[in-house]
Amino acid sequence: MIRRTKEDKPLQLVRSATEGRKKPGNTRRKSPQPDTSTIDYYKHVEQYAQKIRGTEDVSEIIGILDTVLSETRDLRLNNEVYSAQEQVRLAEQKIETLKLELEQLRELVHTDPMTGVFNRRGLDTVYLREAARADRNENILCAVVIDLDNFKHINDTYGHQFGDEVLIQFAKTAKQTLRPSDVIARFGGEEFVILLPDTPTESAVWVMQRLQNNFSKINLQGAGNQPVSITFSGGLAMRRLQENQNSLIKRADEALYQAKISGKDRVVVATDSQ
Ligand code: GH3
Ligand code: MG
Ligand code: MG
Repeated sequence: MIRRTKEDKPLQLVRSATEGRKKPGNTRRKSPQPDTSTIDYYKHVEQYAQKIRGTEDVSEIIGILDTVLSETRDLRLNNEVYSAQEQVRLAEQKIETLKLELEQLRELVHTDPMTGVFNRRGLDTVYLREAARADRNENILCAVVIDLDNFKHINDTYGHQFGDEVLIQFAKTAKQTLRPSDVIARFGGEEFVILLPDTPTESAVWVMQRLQNNFSKINLQGAGNQPVSITFSGGLAMRRLQENQNSLIKRADEALYQAKISGKDRVVVATDSQ
């Protein structure tokens, strides 16, 4: 039931389900006075709508929706606009649904569908976050570029589907081996990038040895159920203060090249990363 008191003003901008109904015992209608909090709300919503139209950054849109949601909630809790509470509640629900859909979309956009780890775009976003954190706290951040060995031969011998399964198993093993705060991304093809925050070089090397060990234990079977042994090579670089992703990955990639030309199945540390 909707109650009304003398001080209540009809809303101009929100059409209430009861708008136009006369209050019992009060036949005179005041000329509608806009509720200032509602006007402020609508002004804000229009500003936020403009911001949303002006960005393609899903994270920024989600942030804006969070602000709109909080203002919408404040409005619902504001007694002066009780007559519009149902509409405000519905608006709140719609914003929440939209936010959820955008969060799911953001996840899809940042995830490699086959392995479930970050894709390149996801890595870009996470790198910015981790690099900012490392700079702020003067923390160490190590990056490893990993490339599966002789993968073309694996595909040619056992089939592309088997190759896909190897990539899935590699990503799964890496996730199980790494700490939750570490990051794994598929950089492309049979290449992955791992970020190890707060991890000195020696510990990062040790983590890679554990990954090699765990991956070698995976039971991969080719046609005729014969076991297939697959190895990877890695290049490891420790991030310099303020270093951007391209520069860090390039140094790790050069170390990976050294790992490849010196026989594969090993991790090489970039010379200035000790
Ligand atoms: P190296 O040891 O020097 O890294 O040799 P390689 O054969 O692993 O490297 P190369 O770059 O010659 O071949 C990479 C292969 O990875 C070729 C490509 O078809 C395969 N590949 C890339 N993406 C996928 C994928 O999503 N699934 C499968 N099954 N194969 C892939
Ligand atoms: Mg490659
Ligand atoms: Mg390869």
